[in-house]
Amino acid sequence: MLLEHRSQIRFCRACGSAVEHVVPADDNRARAVCPACGTIHYENPLNVVGTVPVWDDDQVLLCRRNIEPRKGLWTLPAGFLELGETTAEGAVRETIEEAGAEIDLGPLFTVLNVMRVGQVHLFYLATLRSTRFAPGPETIEAQLFREHEVPWDEIAFRTVRKTLQHFFADRRSGRFGVHGVHCDDIA
Ligand code: ZN
Repeated sequence: MLLEHRSQIRFCRACGSAVEHVVPADDNRARAVCPACGTIHYENPLNVVGTVPVWDDDQVLLCRRNIEPRKGLWTLPAGFLELGETTAEGAVRETIEEAGAEIDLGPLFTVLNVMRVGQVHLFYLATLRSTRFAPGPETIEAQLFREHEVPWDEIAFRTVRKTLQHFFADRRSGRFGVHGVHCDDIA
């Protein structure tokens, strides 16, 4: 999972000319507009999708990041949704890529708006089929944690911390819901 501000568009995607950042007619915010061919480049939030992989009802799988940002810190498996896949498919793919874990995907669990970096993070509950993990190159190690074992001071992202807090709170109450959160202080 990457959490970085996108750099401003400088050149037209259609013809390569330098764009201007102006408010198009009938619009209400500045866009990257090509003065040569008229193409307007709209930018919208990106979706990050991931899972809360659970083993034996009380243990959660975390991955220690092998890439920047936040290298060496722990995260839930998650990453950018690709074109041509559903949010559920993306969450499963990221779990396989980052943790090498086989899961049965459960319901949507958190929807976290990260306005500052223009992202929406979606985490699904998931049940691990086994404790055999084969982390990919983006992960140093994958490990199961009970609530008291979670390295709370070494969690890579605010959305992951929020999602874990909701998971253990819901587990205590015995009722799992969908949690929508505004997480603007993520980066
Ligand atoms: Zn152009």
